[in-house]
Formats: sequence, C-alpha cells, structure tokens
Amino acid sequence: TKLFKIDGWGFPYFGVNNAGDISVRPHGTATMSHQEIDLLKVVKKASDPKCCGGLGLQLPLVVRFPDVLKNRLESLHAAFDGAIQSQGYESHYQGVYPVKCNQDRFVVEDIVEFGSPFRFGLEAGSKPELLLAMSCLCKGNREAFLVCNGFKDSEYITLALVARKLALNTVIVLEQEEELDMVIDISKKLCIRPVIGVRAKLRTKHSGHFGSTSGDKGKFGLTTIQILRVVKKLEQLDMLDCLQLLHFHIGSQIPTTELLADGVGEAAQIYCELLRLGAQMRVLDIGGGLGIDYDGSKSSDSDLSVAYGLEEYAAAVVNAVKYVCDRRGFKHPVICSESGRAIVSHHSILIFEAIGSTSHCTPSLSSIGLQYLGEGLSEETLADYQNISAATIRGDHEACLLYTEQFKKGCVEQFKQGTLGIEQLAAVDGLCDLITETIGAKDPVKSYNVNLSVFTSIPDFWGIEQLFPIVPIHRLDEKPTARGILSDLTCDSDGKINKFIGGESSLPLHELEGQNGGGYYLGMFLGGAYEEALGGFHNLFGGPSVVRVLQSDGPHGFAVTRAVSGPSCADVLRVMQHEPQLMFETLKHRVLEFCGQHDDDSVVNAAGLANSLARSFDNMPYLVSSSSCCLN
Ligand code: PLP
Repeated sequence: TKLFKIDGWGFPYFGVNNAGDISVRPHGTATMSHQEIDLLKVVKKASDPKCCGGLGLQLPLVVRFPDVLKNRLESLHAAFDGAIQSQGYESHYQGVYPVKCNQDRFVVEDIVEFGSPFRFGLEAGSKPELLLAMSCLCKGNREAFLVCNGFKDSEYITLALVARKLALNTVIVLEQEEELDMVIDISKKLCIRPVIGVRAKLRTKHSGHFGSTSGDKGKFGLTTIQILRVVKKLEQLDMLDCLQLLHFHIGSQIPTTELLADGVGEAAQIYCELLRLGAQMRVLDIGGGLGIDYDGSKSSDSDLSVAYGLEEYAAAVVNAVKYVCDRRGFKHPVICSESGRAIVSHHSILIFEAIGSTSHCTPSLSSIGLQYLGEGLSEETLADYQNISAATIRGDHEACLLYTEQFKKGCVEQFKQGTLGIEQLAAVDGLCDLITETIGAKDPVKSYNVNLSVFTSIPDFWGIEQLFPIVPIHRLDEKPTARGILSDLTCDSDGKINKFIGGESSLPLHELEGQNGGGYYLGMFLGGAYEEALGGFHNLFGGPSVVRVLQSDGPHGFAVTRAVSGPSCADVLRVMQHEPQLMFETLKHRVLEFCGQHDDDSVVNAAGLANSLARSFDNMPYLVSSSSCCLN
C-alpha cells in the first residue's frame, strides 16, 4: 500500500487484503455486517464465462459500488450538519448533484434515492440533463432543488418552468443577463411564477487549472452592474420576490479553505445586498469545487490534491456565511452546494488488463541469428564490431556502449544504402539490445500494452493531463520488480499513460506471467466523475462493460446486481452513422458470391463465414482476453 500510496488517496474505501488484492469497503468501514470485497474476485466473476456463475463480460470494465455513493452523500451531509450544529447556524444544508459529472441513469437514480432523506437534489446544465433530472426527481424528495444552470434558450426555460408546474422545486439560475427577458416572457405566457437565481461573477479567483471559470473575466455569471439591472427590472415588473437564490462557482478542486472562505464571504455579501434591495433571498448556492485528494498528499500545491477534508470544507463554508450574515443582521440562508467530483469519484473503478509488455521482445542469444553477424560489414562498421569485443573483454562498459551505438548507426546507414541485408541488420539489433541489457544500460522502463483506450476511458489524462491513481489490483503482496508506462490499443502515439501520481514517469509493476503475458489487472481509481461523460470514440473503441456490486451474505461477500456489456462494434459504428445491418448484408452477399458457389463444402464454409462476420458486429471492439481464470 505504501508504494502506491493507497492509504492516502484510497482511505476509507480501498486497502489491500491478505491475498495481496485490492479490497473495497463500500461503507467506508469493515464490520461483521459490512465485510470487505475482494476486487479481483469481482473482476473474475464479471469476466469469466466458464465457472461460478461468471458473466463473461469483456474488459475493460467499470465496477460501480452504489454503497460508496451512499456513503459519500451521508458523509457530506454529516459534515455540514456537524458544522451547522457546532457553530449555531440557523438554517440547513441542502445540496444538489451536478449530473454532468456522471449522467449514468443508475448513478443519478441512486443519488436521488440515497439523498432523499437529506432533500438532496440535482443540477442540470443542458436540456437533456434537465429532462433526466426532472424525471429522476419525480421519485425524489419534494423539497429537493432542481437547479437549472448553463446557457439557456426559450425551450430550456419553458422546460424549467414546466418542471415548476410539476411541483419540482426548480430554480432558474441566470448565467447571462439576456436570459431574464425570456424567463419573464415565457413565465407570463405559461402563467407560472418562476423562482429565479443569479450566478455572480466573483472577484475571488482560483488560480489552479480548474479556476478559469472564476474571476470577473470568467465565462459564466453576471457582473455587479448586470445583477443590479436584473434587480431593477424584476422590481419594475413586481417580480423581485421571484429572486431567491444566489449562485457562484469558482472552479473545481478549490485548493484551500482560505480561498473557499474568501469566495463564500464575497458571495454572502452579495446575498445580503440583494436582501437589502428587496429580493426574497433564501438560498446561497456555493457551486462545486469540493476537491479530491488524487495523490493522497493532502496538499494545495497542485490540482491533484486539496489541503482539507469534508469536515474542514463544511466548517469553512458555514463559518464564512454566518460571519457575514450576522454582521449584516440577516437571517442565515439555506446553504446549497453542487459537489460533483466529491460525490461520484470514488464509487467506480475502471479495470483493464495488461496484455503484454515490451519485455517479451527481449532477444535471447540463440534467437538473434548469430550466423549473420559480421556478414557484409564495411571496414568502419567491422572496426566498431571488433572494438565492442575488445571493450567487453576489458570490462570497459562505457567504451562498449559507445562502440555499440556507433556500430548500430553505421549498420543502419549501410542498410539504407542497400549494402546490408535485413537478416544482418536484425542480428545487429539483437546483439546491441543484448549488450545494453547485459550491462544494465537498457531503459529499465517497459511499455505495458493495455486493453483500453485512453481517449475513451481516461480522456482527462489526454486532454488536461489529469492524473488518477492506477494500481495493480492483485499481486500486491509481491514486490513489483519492473517499471512501466501503459500503452493503449489506439493507433495514436498519444494513447499512452506516462505520468503518474507522485510526479512519476513510470509505475512500479510486476513482470507479466504466462506465455501470452495477459492476466495482469490494473485499476484506475477515483475516476467516477467526468471521465465517462467526456470519453470519445477514437479508433471506434467504445465505453467499457459495467457491473454494479453490492455487499451480500454470499460466499464472496458480494453480489453483482447489474451487468451490462460495453457497446458492440455495431453500436460504435452506428454512432458514426453507419448501418451495421446493411453493412452485414453487403458482406454476406459478397461471401455468397465468392465462397458459396463451388461445392457443398464451401456452402457450409460460407455460412460459417457469415456467422463469424455477424459475431464481429456483435462483439466489443476491445481485444478478447486469452487469460480468464476461475474463482476459487
Ligand atoms: N457547478 C458548476 C456550475 C460547475 O461548473 C461544476 C463543474 O465544473 C460543478 C458544479 C461541479 O464541480 P465539482 O465537480 O468540482 O464539484
């Protein structure tokens, strides 16, 4: 656990058990009724078609633990409750989940269900998000907020007003001043009294990567001048009572509670000013930004960590709001937050398999074609060759490396000029690799090929170099003897992971076992927020398979309650407007044309070929593992 800092970023949900596998504590603690779950056993169960009721799902695989979501919601709520009680705050906390972080139906439904006792609501930033939030909240707590953020057109505003008519506690947050006229017009037409919020552009600026939405040049929100114009207009129309919420968002991963308190304090002043001007303010919505400790360092030095936990976060918010409101003599508002990352990051783990590594290409002396060595060499390259031998005999490693490099360069030059054959060049390559490896000068970092697309499953690594903890999920009782980077399946040189938490450019890994090198499983942790929604279809690799896992009394302490295979080749082709059925018919026609007209045997063959084509459309785009093994 030390090597991978699991106790730092994984606490309280992840650890290592006696078998050397990652263990999961979905409730944050292990008790008699809440036992740890062995993650490798979950993967075996999900992927093995052959035994123990295995499901035969292809990897990569997302393993979701809804109980982790429940624990995150309860912990967040308990942190605010604790701060409210200890500071004598005279209102309550009532958060919303921004669905953009992970719009998966079951994630959102779980959050609505688990959050219902706390009146936990949803935040939407687009029309489809609003539609899903509306339908999910129909089963939620009637008081839960439905916060409507993002750029809006008349259709969006109509939808939000309809949500209000349906008794959903909907607030339309103005992100742009122009939205106000639409809200006024449409609400009049529909005879629905709107509840309006404004998003303020705060002066407080978060300087990290995620802070570009903050400050007065931020993309969203209203300036002080604009907020005042909104107040005036609402007052003239006798609608100032509709303005009830103030919102701001200074960016994700807010590094310190000092910055947080600064922003909340500024917003609380605006809130009080709006009350003074006659608005019926009730809610202060502090946006997202509650950070995650991806590297376990609990420091504010990078975007990968934050210097506080849930309790410190809640205490800083409550204190900052209370301080301003008490000084101004106004009632304490309901505190709403839009924490996304902090709620969903931990609950899902992406599992993928290393299917080979460059170590498998290291030549043995017998395999390098010794008989070709020395053949066809020019005088110069022959001299280098002899110098290598002499330096080796002297034990002069430095000279040996120098001549090896020179020798290889000269041979490549000869090959380009056509004076050296391919067998001779291959023998030269083999010899040079062997020399550098033997004297320990070969780059010790191997490339592990993984059955994954970085672009689809870890898009933030590719897009913004966001790092996530990546750890083998088994063999953790064995010291890793290699170091590696991870190369994905895409035909793209950016499809690799070569930066890891702790500033490392390679990961400690175990040597792959077995002939084919597979059967080594890695997990990418804390990626439950944003990664699934942002992922693309580069090389037409689609999303992973997904299982939902609950604790149970069964033999392994868990039950898979839902298992869904990832998109098939046909599914991803459809995304790009291809029509798999027509494609199949075209190919089948061709099969019959070229394989079906000779004799009976080839007719059977044609049917077999057509079946195999059909299977290719049905299967996932990822490589089929050669190494599934039994649970025992
Ligand atoms: N609210 C708004 C308006 C946002 O833009 C975001 C994300 O950037 C969030 C909430 C969620 O932020 P986080 O995931 O940091 O909690």
